[in-house]
Amino acid sequence: MGRLFAIEVVYRGIFQKTLAKNIARGIVLAAHAEGKPGISFGRYGDSPERNGIPAKGFAIVGTDDITLEEGMAKYEPKEVDITISVDDTLCKGVESWAWYGLQPINRLLKPGGTLIVTSMSPPKELISMAHAKDVPYNLVILKGTPSFSGLWVYKDDHTDVRILGAIAQILPELFSLKAVEQVIRDEWKSDVKVASAQKAASRVSPITVKPGQGNPEVPYKFELPKWHEMRDGVSIPCIAPGKQIEDPVTHVMGGYQPNRNPTFKKFTTRTMRPVVNFSTCIKCTLCWLQCPDSCFDVTPDGLYDANMEACCGCGVCEAVCPVEKCVTMVNETEFTDNNSQWVAWRQDSTGYLKWLDTKIEHRPDLAKRSHGFRYLGQYQEQVPEMLEIAQQGD
Ligand code: SF4
Ligand code: SF4
Repeated sequence: MGRLFAIEVVYRGIFQKTLAKNIARGIVLAAHAEGKPGISFGRYGDSPERNGIPAKGFAIVGTDDITLEEGMAKYEPKEVDITISVDDTLCKGVESWAWYGLQPINRLLKPGGTLIVTSMSPPKELISMAHAKDVPYNLVILKGTPSFSGLWVYKDDHTDVRILGAIAQILPELFSLKAVEQVIRDEWKSDVKVASAQKAASRVSPITVKPGQGNPEVPYKFELPKWHEMRDGVSIPCIAPGKQIEDPVTHVMGGYQPNRNPTFKKFTTRTMRPVVNFSTCIKCTLCWLQCPDSCFDVTPDGLYDANMEACCGCGVCEAVCPVEKCVTMVNETEFTDNNSQWVAWRQDSTGYLKWLDTKIEHRPDLAKRSHGFRYLGQYQEQVPEMLEIAQQGD
């Protein structure tokens, strides 16, 4: 009986699709260069991918054909040697298409397996975001910002080959750094990318995460209906009416909170979230009207509160808000809960505004939208900055 290796790449749909494909394919090619058969595939055969939706690619490698075939007989690996998270906000958990609630980022990791995260955050922050496991695992941080691009463009900032270099160091039984170098020369034909992979390998510094360490929250889940519980034909229940909201200070009921899908909360789709300055809001309704996911609750005092369980972080509300710094998108790693911002503001408006200032102070250019592809050549401009981060020491 040979050995089976399984690696998953957890990425954000569309933005990181090519990146995930490059990594999974590179893993299989590097293993193949050392005589091991393998295959890479995406989680979805027929589903579309929405912007930001957590998605998965897999690379399965066997030491021989029979072992690989046996591994491939499963639709999806039940456990993996390495989980790669190419956006650190995915450490909060992933939810795809309402199949199973929230899935911890480290759920499939074998005991002693490794979670590789591309991030500028310190280990402590990433560990506290990821759900606690009852077995130890390792965390490796690959210094860098999440590499986002579009459907038709690819931001070639070397994240792909840096991850391959790191894997050679973490799991040398799978393939060596020499194999990675060979694949990069064959596939990408770039000595600079070879150097990036070598540097990433030399910087790997695993941290052991102990059992019980991390986010203690029990992720929400639900039971899927059994076949005999399903109704005949195709029927979709209508949406029940929403409800009024209680003002936490005056206890007056008012406003409106629409009813939302209880089994697809969407917040793991988010890499940034809007923070709202309720004291400068002019109640123009634009954010409420334009939000593609109907995320805004109307408060009893006529303000608009982005519901953090429902918001998928698209940034439209920031783009349409006519008041400067009234809605600002902030990286999701800055937050530890999905509580109502409006309730916090009602309870302590001074404290809330101070909190808001600290959240938005690092936004470099408030005049522009914070994320997304805005003009041709934008990624080419960003690549040197990313490579500089990758070259810096830890
Ligand atoms: S970022 Fe704004 S517009 Fe987009 S889903 Fe969230 S609340 Fe709605
Ligand atoms: S778009 Fe801005 S100003 Fe208008 S209601 Fe929304 S938060 Fe207030």
